[in-house]
Amino acid sequence: MIIYYGTKKKLKPVSDLGEMTCTNCGHRIGATLAKEGGYFHIFFIPVFPLLTGYKFIYCPYCGIMKKLTNAEFKELKEKNPPIG
Ligand SMILES: [Zn+2]
Repeated sequence: MIIYYGTKKKLKPVSDLGEMTCTNCGHRIGATLAKEGGYFHIFFIPVFPLLTGYKFIYCPYCGIMKKLTNAEFKELKEKNPPIG
């Protein structure tokens, strides 16, 4: 019997940061504060969450714009309205 298992990463938008110029690609963007989560799956059923926890400002043009420290993330999260 073959067991399929692995990990899947997921991007979770946290706050809307408004318009910014991307430091990576130079586009004017509606930047999003985001964090990366994920889970370990067996037969594509999520079993337990992974604690990757990367936090960053997300640019829709180039992917990730800037990785943030926990302190930077917390500050931006408090200053900006949450998504949803
Ligand atoms: Zn960019």
